[in-house]
Amino acid sequence: MLKSRSTILVLAATAAVGCHVAAVQANLNIVPIFDSSFTSSPYASYFESQVNSAISELDGYIANPITVHVDFSNEAGVIGSNVTAIGSIPYTTYLAQLKARSSPTTYDTTALATLPSSNPVNSGTTVAITGPLAQVLGDSSYVTPYANPQVGIGGYISVGFSYMATSPTSTGYNLETVVLHELDEVLSIGGNGSELNQSFYEGSNYLSTGSIGTMDLYRYSAKGVRSYTTSPTNASGQPLYTYFSIDGGKTILTYFNQQGYNNGGDFADWAGYGTKQVQDYSLTSNTSLNLGRNELIALDVAGWTLTSSGLSVEAGNSVPECSTLAILGVMSAMLLLRRRTSRQ
Ligand SMILES: [Zn+2]
Repeated sequence: MLKSRSTILVLAATAAVGCHVAAVQANLNIVPIFDSSFTSSPYASYFESQVNSAISELDGYIANPITVHVDFSNEAGVIGSNVTAIGSIPYTTYLAQLKARSSPTTYDTTALATLPSSNPVNSGTTVAITGPLAQVLGDSSYVTPYANPQVGIGGYISVGFSYMATSPTSTGYNLETVVLHELDEVLSIGGNGSELNQSFYEGSNYLSTGSIGTMDLYRYSAKGVRSYTTSPTNASGQPLYTYFSIDGGKTILTYFNQQGYNNGGDFADWAGYGTKQVQDYSLTSNTSLNLGRNELIALDVAGWTLTSSGLSVEAGNSVPECSTLAILGVMSAMLLLRRRTSRQ
């Protein structure tokens, strides 16, 4: 889920258009379903192109060749939210599935080393994962499909058109960025990667016995100290800072939104400190973001397999800027022109 930022900063005069290299191999295949609330907008074609651009970016980073259906609708009062088919699988099953993956990255190996044979977070025996992740790990029998056969074990994403920029140069939230955020959650990281939110709705006992989420396995408040609480403060009454770490809390990758209980954001989203990221619990208007290192590490250790492009971003390499791609495009066009000339 995405919250609007209470203090809206206008950071750039023009909204950037996402630049992505098209996938060439069989990758993740997210299939959008645009419902009538979406297609009836006068800006539907622009909004559809934004959704398709977000899908292209994510598909290009994920190598698992499965198809995920996602319904898109326009909903008043939200920036972005999703509901996704979810199921609780035994922790031992999830761990075995993670260990069984072929060609694990160094990130996977590091993360797996912190996962013991039984759930280390709470006394529960299950992990909640979304339908698409269950499918890619090889067993979606724990997930109940939606009655709508078009969606199945996929998800529904709602966005608020009234908040969105309706062209590359108009003001508003960048729909592509909003959709990237929600798609991450459909894939079981970000908001859907923590069951702390559900604990809020299902009562205090849920914390100690219920399913954890994928990101809860990498949620720390200090080196060696796992965190699984909705409290925004520590025992001393000071703000509690929790963070995403795959090496047992030694390295802070980014901070979680521990204030989620108070600000209405997702506990498994990022807190938004420092450089803006797609998975921040709230986004800034007039700002276009691409998936970054932390989102790719989260997807990787949660169970997805990254493409070479995804591995590059995971390693900290930046995505080529639009201008760079444009220059490369001009150069290759010139090269093509010269070759054609020499052939004559
Ligand atoms: Zn979220």
